[in-house]
Amino acid sequence: MQVFKFGGASVKDADSVKNVASILKKQANQATIVVISAMGKTTNKLEQLVNAYFYKDGDIETILTELKTYHLSILNQLIPNKANGIFNDIENVFVELLWALEEEPSSTYNYHYDQLVSQGEVLATKIVSAYLNEVEIKNKWVDARGFIQTDNSYREGKVNYELSEHLIQTELLPIFNSFNIIVTQGFIGGTSENFTTTLGREGSDYTAALLAYFTDAKQVIIWKDVPGVLNADPKYFKNAKKIDELNYHDAIELTYYGASVIHPKTIKPLQNKNIPLYVKSFINPQEAGTIIKDSDKRSNATSYIFKVNQILLSIQPKDFSFIAEDNLSNIFTLFSKYNVHVNMMQNSAISFSVCTDYDEHKIEPLLKDLQQQFKVLYNKDVELMTVRNYDQDIIANLTENKLVIIEQRSRNTLQMVMKEDSAF
Ligand code: ASP
Ligand code: MG
Repeated sequence: MQVFKFGGASVKDADSVKNVASILKKQANQATIVVISAMGKTTNKLEQLVNAYFYKDGDIETILTELKTYHLSILNQLIPNKANGIFNDIENVFVELLWALEEEPSSTYNYHYDQLVSQGEVLATKIVSAYLNEVEIKNKWVDARGFIQTDNSYREGKVNYELSEHLIQTELLPIFNSFNIIVTQGFIGGTSENFTTTLGREGSDYTAALLAYFTDAKQVIIWKDVPGVLNADPKYFKNAKKIDELNYHDAIELTYYGASVIHPKTIKPLQNKNIPLYVKSFINPQEAGTIIKDSDKRSNATSYIFKVNQILLSIQPKDFSFIAEDNLSNIFTLFSKYNVHVNMMQNSAISFSVCTDYDEHKIEPLLKDLQQQFKVLYNKDVELMTVRNYDQDIIANLTENKLVIIEQRSRNTLQMVMKEDSAF
């Protein structure tokens, strides 16, 4: 038993889907669960759709048409025979979307987000599964919402391990008696009342890890458009290098600080069952990639994790008192209420600074709430740079033309909140 995960970039067009099929043909030599994300940038598009629906911010019809055209164009290239039931299936997904969008919102933003955005994964898996069957790669399409059971924390579903494990062992695994390949969705789960939840952006990796954990898989392979885990994001660093091997601890740290190659929640379930994780290139599938596994060997490679679109908040008691435990407790309660994750924090006598991702719909209400009790200063459009295994030369290089607003060092890790220096 093994678990493969293919992300959005690996199924972004018809040729990419064909490439997935060729990888499965060669590598699915044992029972394989194939976890697939939404195609290309579909999730972003669906987020626009939710905003158009909930905030009346955008045109529902235009976005829906774009989504449909995109998926149908891929499908048409993959399956010439219009009598194939898949065409009806895809049509139905869009009809149901349209019905849902015609009703006024009845619940929270996050609830509607999950019901709508989850359809990206549903569409992708239906199309890929139908294509695989078409080219004689026999597989069974499975709805992940029946197996990955969560509570109703929409957009951040908390997985019910006992129930999910039970369902997977009793109802999912027996499918392997008739099929060698199961195709299912990443990122999405279901509640006990049959509503859809999502596990957080980029959560398909986490789904793959959970499925591996519950089925005692031999290995997980995450197929990516990069050769493996790199020491920096090639989008920002020209000389990014592949790391051949990482232990779980290093991988958890890297992802915790925001290395976007793997979702942060992915490693822990694998570590708990000692399941190795390979990150490999779907462009060059024969190459070794990166292996993440149990080992005492800590990596001393320098890694850079760069996060843009950050906001730095500086929170001060209105009465000029010290920042003390009771203030901190109030502050964290509010962060948790708005689901805002702290990327870096620093405390001084009269102010508490926090760097987080700038997500307008979370941060603006948080700011309003914080301002009831505190004086809040903020700096938008800052960058957070984390360097593991740093040295002085590296720091000098990275801070050229930048204004460092806050800096924090431990023995191995350096974090800097920076801004483009307007003086340059
Ligand atoms: N499609 C979802 C996203 O783009 C989940 C994933 O790709 O892992 O966030
Ligand atoms: Mg994705």
